[in-house]
Amino acid sequence: TRSTRPQRLLKVVQKRATRGDPQSVISAVDHFCRHSEWAMNVGDEKGSILDSVVSELSPEKVLELGTYCGYSTVRIARLLPPGARLITLEFNADYAAIARQVIAWAGLEDKVQLVEGASEDWIPRMKEHYGIETFDFVFLDHWKDRYLPDTKLMEDCGLLRKGTVLLADNVICPGFPDYLEYVRNSLSYKSCYFKSHLKYTKAEDGLEKSVFLG
Ligand code: SAM
Ligand code: MG
Repeated sequence: TRSTRPQRLLKVVQKRATRGDPQSVISAVDHFCRHSEWAMNVGDEKGSILDSVVSELSPEKVLELGTYCGYSTVRIARLLPPGARLITLEFNADYAAIARQVIAWAGLEDKVQLVEGASEDWIPRMKEHYGIETFDFVFLDHWKDRYLPDTKLMEDCGLLRKGTVLLADNVICPGFPDYLEYVRNSLSYKSCYFKSHLKYTKAEDGLEKSVFLG
């Protein structure tokens, strides 16, 4: 049977990237997506915005919603300070299996905990199961109908503190007005938009950064 796109992406990483070198893993995936097959990772242009937000924050506890093949996981994890921890959630078992190998190839498995399952099931279990008090940074990049309910769920579960930063991908393309309206109008958030382009294209897309004010 024909291989899947994530399997082909992993093959490219194993062929082109150096073990233990996250930057080479990122470059291999970008090359694959630019020249061979489009894939739904955040990409290099929006990825550099993600990098700058992570570098500025230097977060100790990070949550990522939507791992796919682990591209953004590698981007974030490579910039974390020593001792920091990134939990990434993925409910597709095939994607999760690929992502584990991509993360390991980058040499970042000590910093990353990949949790298989649905965000709505795992967010309420973060405290008891993973001993998380609050997250410093959350990257939202899963299915769009879950951005708003999962944000409210994180609030209700006490996983956000004053100063926690939420960064949401794809706020223009495909876009999700309910989430944007919420973070832009709520007095509990200070929100701003980073204009960019849809990965590997010229179409506008962007990231919304929202600081939780408590
Ligand atoms: N963040 C990745 C990157 O930039 O490399 C791309 C993530 S992809 C756009 C979205 C992923 O979220 C898919 O792999 C999908 O299976 C997963 N997903 C969607 N809804 C989810 C949910 N409610 N819980 C866990 N994973 C979910
Ligand atoms: Mg995305």
